Amino acid sequence: MIPVFRPDLPKAAAIASYLTLLDESRRYANRGDLTLMLERRLTDLFGIAQGGVLSAASGTAALTAAILASAGRARASKPLCLCAGYTFVAAPLAAELCGYRPHFVDIDADAWAPDPRRLAIHSLLDRTGVVLVPAPYGRSYSQAGWSEFSRVAGVPVVIDAAAGVELFADGAPDLVGAVPVVLSFHATKAFAVGEGGAIVCADLPLLRAAAASLNFGFAGARETTAPGFNGKMSEHHAAVGLAELDGWAEKRRALRRVADAYRRYAAERGVKIHTAPSVASNYALLEATSERAAQDACAKLRAAGFDSRLWYGLGLHREPYFRDAARDPLPQVEALAPRLIGLPVAADLAEAVVERIVAVVAAALRQP
Ligand SMILES: *Cc1c(COP(=O)(O)O)cnc(C)c1O
Repeated sequence: MIPVFRPDLPKAAAIASYLTLLDESRRYANRGDLTLMLERRLTDLFGIAQGGVLSAASGTAALTAAILASAGRARASKPLCLCAGYTFVAAPLAAELCGYRPHFVDIDADAWAPDPRRLAIHSLLDRTGVVLVPAPYGRSYSQAGWSEFSRVAGVPVVIDAAAGVELFADGAPDLVGAVPVVLSFHATKAFAVGEGGAIVCADLPLLRAAAASLNFGFAGARETTAPGFNGKMSEHHAAVGLAELDGWAEKRRALRRVADAYRRYAAERGVKIHTAPSVASNYALLEATSERAAQDACAKLRAAGFDSRLWYGLGLHREPYFRDAARDPLPQVEALAPRLIGLPVAADLAEAVVERIVAVVAAALRQP
């Protein structure tokens, strides 16, 4: 079975030269030399001011720290977290760990995410302590729109752009500002260290507060001054990140070749598949016309030896744990989630395999 994503991280030999530095420094944790080097090189890659990238042990750790730094823990008067109903479960789980009760809101049909102007008139805003907005599948978002929303509503916002590294690497406008943005470097993302993540933000005091939250609430002194946990990236993971940066241009080219192949064959066969650069290059997303057609395509793919996945499930409200969570009506989540199917991607996926996958999908969708 061809998996839905086959990670391809730097080989041991490429990581070794960085690990050798650890034999000298004997500093393996607490933002050592390799972690600081990774943060510096990421700010260079993103073309933003030094200090604007803070590493973390995972995307979820980064989300949790960003919530604590911008909104703090939930208070009795503001117990709610408004969260898009269509994203990965990490977002509402992080909000819960900070004491918030998630309340799911609907998405815009085209953006696959909530619209800041529409959310600005939400009736629960005065009881909301934090708003979590996804940049689903690494799609772009409006920093200006959410900064303005946050300022007018008086509610902190955290943007979960977990898969969005390529947006930053391409220097897309309107990404970085006062609202913290979270990235994941999980093995299944295009830029990967195994387990890792980061917060990107122009508000350096906010990033310092996040750094404290990632380190037991220590701010300078070894003394807890804020809510926190251990969410720091290890030096070993930073070594993988540095080697990943060394090979990043080549890996991107390989992933883009796969995206280009999907786009070409999809156009030939009249199938709607979202690929890079409109989504991150670790995704090729089939948009089926109906839930039944989507299920049929998945069954045919499986029979032909190809795995597929609803990366964000059927919407957060359909996760067993969040079944009873409060929510708005979610017609757009319901309409989109079952139809957006992740197809196999890997940096070394052969074009002939992509052609075959698209052919199977096209045949399945043609059936009445
Ligand atoms: C990958 C992902 C996460 C989780 O990141 P981890 O590094 O696995 O904790 C969160 N949100 C979204 C949208 C993701 O795609």
